[in-house]
Amino acid sequence: MIEQPDHIKSIPAYKPGRSTVEGWDGPVFKLSSNENPYPPLPSVVDAVTRAAGHMQRYPNMAAPEFRAALARRLDVPEEDIALGGGSVESAAQIVRAFAGHDDEVIFAWRSFEAYPLLVKTAGATAVEVPLTATEHHDLPAMLAAITPRTRVIFMCTPNNPTGTVVDHEELREFMRQVPSHILVVVDEAYTHFVNDSTAVRGLEVYREFENVVVLHTFSKAYGLAGLRLGYTIARADVRQGLAKTAMPFAVTDVAAAAGVASLAAEDELQKRVDLLISERDRVEAELALSGWNVPPSQANFFWLAVGAQTDAVQEHLLRHGIIARPFTGEGIRVSIGEPEANDAVLSALRSFHGSDSAALS
Ligand SMILES: *Cc1c(COP(=O)(O)O)cnc(C)c1O
Repeated sequence: MIEQPDHIKSIPAYKPGRSTVEGWDGPVFKLSSNENPYPPLPSVVDAVTRAAGHMQRYPNMAAPEFRAALARRLDVPEEDIALGGGSVESAAQIVRAFAGHDDEVIFAWRSFEAYPLLVKTAGATAVEVPLTATEHHDLPAMLAAITPRTRVIFMCTPNNPTGTVVDHEELREFMRQVPSHILVVVDEAYTHFVNDSTAVRGLEVYREFENVVVLHTFSKAYGLAGLRLGYTIARADVRQGLAKTAMPFAVTDVAAAAGVASLAAEDELQKRVDLLISERDRVEAELALSGWNVPPSQANFFWLAVGAQTDAVQEHLLRHGIIARPFTGEGIRVSIGEPEANDAVLSALRSFHGSDSAALS
């Protein structure tokens, strides 16, 4: 018997999401991982195919063409961009580099499931600060949670799984009070889906405060979840740490080529993002009309805080061919898909009649 050390033993085993539905012969919609429902653009597939022609070689870790294209797009110095094999790997680099055994990492809860995992595997302590009653980050409570052992704070905006955003001015006020030796990570995985002008603008906060880094990913809006491409925008002091903890060769040349082609095709990709945004707004409005209480989402998913009825709603959705992401006892996250998928979700939810549902007001 090979024993896990205590800090690994305490981590619950990972349960992968469902991907098949028994006893349903209609169309199945996988809305459990906030993926882009549309297949990659032909120009991106071409770039990937070309890059695959030299995959006997290790990747060029500097990915100069990709980082130059990104730097132009974001108007940040090229050297401020540190790549990761998905932004989960970028987040892991940050935790490993800056939080050791006696250190604390603060984040809201519920938020992105990877945070506690990354913090605990690094041997650090996860400090979870409950969301407010409206499913928003509680910035005063997060400030109050800071101790001499705090090293990193994650701020997920829009928040996965609730879809709510942190207010830009509120974050600036928060940053003025956070000691400058604490690293604040603004995880903007869903930034392309934001159309609320009061929401955090990560790059602006990055430019204003030296202890802020921003996480972005190509998995969601750009539709490259399967290729693993993300990055941190960070200044030299942070980058030196990330360079030590990055998984060597995590970003392949194939992924970097897809990144370059995606940036070149951004107008075309934006049309899909705009469609998903308008679908999100349509779904939210229709759910409100049928009595569901959905927190305002700025992402490509929405949250049903159905509490004790979570498993019942999940079973009901599965019986209609819809695979969502349940968090038993709390609620269900449903990704926005193509219009047919969203219609199927709306029709299934209209026919759900639970008893005294928390989300059905
Ligand atoms: C999906 C997601 C990511 C991105 O993950 P990748 O590793 O880039 O696929 C990062 N942060 C949050 C909050 C997410 O939901």
